[in-house]
Amino acid sequence: MKLVFATHNQNKLKEIQKLLPPFINLVSLTDLGCLEPIPETADTLKGNAKLKADYVYKTYQLPCFADDTGLLVDALNGAPGVYSARYAGEENDANANMDKLLTNLKDKADRSASFKTVIALNLDNHTLFFKGSVKGEITKVKNGKNGFGYDPIFKPEGFDKTFAELPLKVKNQIGHRGKAFSKLISYLNTQHVRP
Ligand code: IMP
Repeated sequence: MKLVFATHNQNKLKEIQKLLPPFINLVSLTDLGCLEPIPETADTLKGNAKLKADYVYKTYQLPCFADDTGLLVDALNGAPGVYSARYAGEENDANANMDKLLTNLKDKADRSASFKTVIALNLDNHTLFFKGSVKGEITKVKNGKNGFGYDPIFKPEGFDKTFAELPLKVKNQIGHRGKAFSKLISYLNTQHVRP
């Protein structure tokens, strides 16, 4: 069965393919020739993941899953949340995003935050959702070189290092995206969809 992962990232695709049952042939948006930007105009992670999965299902008549992730900071009422990529501007500049967040948190005592990932799976014009989250806190300065996005300023609960200082393997085990994907993979492994 052909299943689309609504991403252009071939590394993400390969990682997931290895964990899926062999009857699933995972393809990316690039493989499909879907080069147009898919609208992400919802104001929730769930809404945006659903928009992407439904767009591919309707446009290409293929089952699809899509993920959307955000960093929710308690003292900022959940910001940057669904706007995490564009917090400091359209360029999705990780350093500028982190600088803006550190500035906005300067006088706040509460630095608690969480990463949340939502995956929407549209197999047959019905959408199922799989979620993962991790709690932690925003550090005062950037630390570490691993990962991407807000990793250098996010310290997961129970650890004294940021995601950018921890090995990727650890991040994947305890992290938001890893948890959501393991739920998706368990679900797909129980499906007896005809090859
Ligand atoms: P996306 O939905 O995976 O594209 O994530 C949206 C934005 O959230 C990214 O551009 C990053 O700024 C941030 N983000 C998502 N996942 C992570 C992560 O694992 N670590 C740090 N930042 C992340």
